[in-house]
Amino acid sequence: MAPASPCTPISCSAASYLTLLVETCVTQVLFDAGKTHATGVRVIDPTGAAATITGKQLIVAANAIETPRLLLDSGYAHPLLGKNLMFHIIFATIGVFADEIDPYRGRPITHAMADFTVPDADGLRGGYVELGGQLHPLEEGTSYPWLLHKSLMTDGKWRRRIASVSMIGEDVPVLANRVELDPKVRDVYGRAAPRIVYARHPKDQAMVDHFFPKLDAIATAAGAVELRRIDFVDQDGRPESKHLLGTARMGTDAKASVTDPWGRLHDVDNLWICDGSLWPTSTGFNPTLTQQAMARRTAAYLADPTSVKP
Ligand SMILES: Cc1cc2nc3c(=O)[nH]c(=O)nc-3n(C[C@H](O)[C@H](O)[C@H](O)COP(=O)(O)OP(=O)(O)OC[C@H]3O[C@@H](n4cnc5c(N)ncnc54)[C@H](O)[C@@H]3O)c2cc1C
Repeated sequence: MAPASPCTPISCSAASYLTLLVETCVTQVLFDAGKTHATGVRVIDPTGAAATITGKQLIVAANAIETPRLLLDSGYAHPLLGKNLMFHIIFATIGVFADEIDPYRGRPITHAMADFTVPDADGLRGGYVELGGQLHPLEEGTSYPWLLHKSLMTDGKWRRRIASVSMIGEDVPVLANRVELDPKVRDVYGRAAPRIVYARHPKDQAMVDHFFPKLDAIATAAGAVELRRIDFVDQDGRPESKHLLGTARMGTDAKASVTDPWGRLHDVDNLWICDGSLWPTSTGFNPTLTQQAMARRTAAYLADPTSVKP
């Protein structure tokens, strides 16, 4: 085990209990007639062969878009399933420095601060702030081909003199922001494609407007002589952040949440969700380590409900 790493290798002893089916797609979750118990899953393996796998407990950990997609496509219904999709709002001030600081030679994130994750003097809360440079050249080349990477590398007057101050802002849960099944588009397995509906809430925009000047001030205090702001949204206004959260929120009230506090569907006694879908709010932090902690907690509860406290 590597507790400090986001990638935890499966230990040999655990592997002896596991069968991993690679490149195998779960196409459907199977339920009993009353839809109160999951009986198994339908899968398609890399050769295209379909099979049914049964088990006593079923854990879905496909992340906050694919988890609701799979359950909705399997005919499981809960009014909140797929709703309250969150991504985090990521925005940054890019500072241009007089000196060449060669940011691509260091780590992309050199420091981080959590000061803005709590309400400030104006009562507003933002999120985690990352200070750093940019991606390494090869990562840039694969990540940003549309920005004419080669000419950026050779001609960019800023290239060797920039650093960024970026915020992982907490976007609020909004019922209308959701994952739903596309009525027309299907994937290669014949499954309904997920369709994303997301619009920024006015509170999220207020956060961006409020904290941009603070990010500017940090860059300026560090010596930046020129500033450029970037609000990372795609052409439809959706955040370009890849933190998928919130589409099967956990809680104690079966009407106000999809799962119980342990991640088990309120009305299906053996189906557990174990990913970012469970988050009722997005928090202004990178999510993965917390998701891992929650997965561990659910696993411990599954093994022995008396071993952990809520
Ligand atoms: C570019 C990028 C940068 C990121 N940077 C950070 C960061 O700096 N810090 C941070 O905390 N987080 C970061 N994240 C988010 C982080 O990757 C996720 O929080 C994390 O991977 C979630 O883990 P997961 O196991 O729940 O979901 P995933 O890693 O998404 O795994 C879900 C798995 O389920 C599989 N799956 C889905 N549907 C099916 C199906 N029907 N059948 C079979 N398999 C299926 C998928 O193939 C996938 O392997 C980043 C994400 C991206 C994309």
